[in-house]
Amino acid sequence: MKRTLIAANWKMHLNASQASLLLHRLHERIKIHRDIEVVLAPSSLVLQPMSMQIDRRKFRLAAQNGYHKDEGAFTGEVSFTMLKDLVHYAIIGHSERRMYFDESLEVVRDKVAAAVRNEITPILCVGETHQERTEGETKQVLHDQVTTALSDLTSEEVKDIVIAYEPIWAISTFGGEIAKPDDIRDAIAHIRKQVAELYSKKVADKVRVLYGGSVDDHTVGGYLAIDGCDGVLVGGASLNYHKFSGIVDVAYNLKHADGAS
Ligand code: PEP
Repeated sequence: MKRTLIAANWKMHLNASQASLLLHRLHERIKIHRDIEVVLAPSSLVLQPMSMQIDRRKFRLAAQNGYHKDEGAFTGEVSFTMLKDLVHYAIIGHSERRMYFDESLEVVRDKVAAAVRNEITPILCVGETHQERTEGETKQVLHDQVTTALSDLTSEEVKDIVIAYEPIWAISTFGGEIAKPDDIRDAIAHIRKQVAELYSKKVADKVRVLYGGSVDDHTVGGYLAIDGCDGVLVGGASLNYHKFSGIVDVAYNLKHADGAS
């Protein structure tokens, strides 16, 4: 049985004391769940103090980014080698990095390989723009993003990674445009098909695929009920401890309603 993954992307929010306060509140509110994995991705500045404060039975840490070289004269960068003792996961290929920092398919591929080389599990983000969707290019975009990103990995490495389907046009819209369950199901199935074609169905079934895009405590249940969806990547709502702990509660209740332990 796969553990449902609930990941919080705090983006460029919360300084060290704000992050510490939110973590303190989450510690009080969220229980230890064997079948739910809760991952927090604060800014890299805050990873070190959070790693000392965190209850590892409740939470795992993720980096929001990393540089693909392990060491060297790359002013301003933080490598996955430097992150490896602090984090379990790293968000790679988020649409904001692809858009605002010009991360190409190849850069994302190199980051995925660097994370894996440093024993950090990538949470690889993929997803189409609004224009690509309206022009019927969603499947091609997902194909290119998935196949390039995984191209340096063995099947043994791929089976443990996480892929987050995040349609860019549905990110942080809350109340605006949201993705329909059928479209999400199809996109998730298409992602798994790419992995199965590159590796095998067995590997594709092991990979956890998340949904991300304006998920909150009211909508998460619907997303987690989608066939093939193994969890959610949460941006805006993860900064609010009522909403984020509510999301974890819904995930827990769904697991237990299914008869899982
Ligand atoms: C994200 O940026 O990964 C995300 C899913 O954000 P939001 O939940 O705010 O749409």
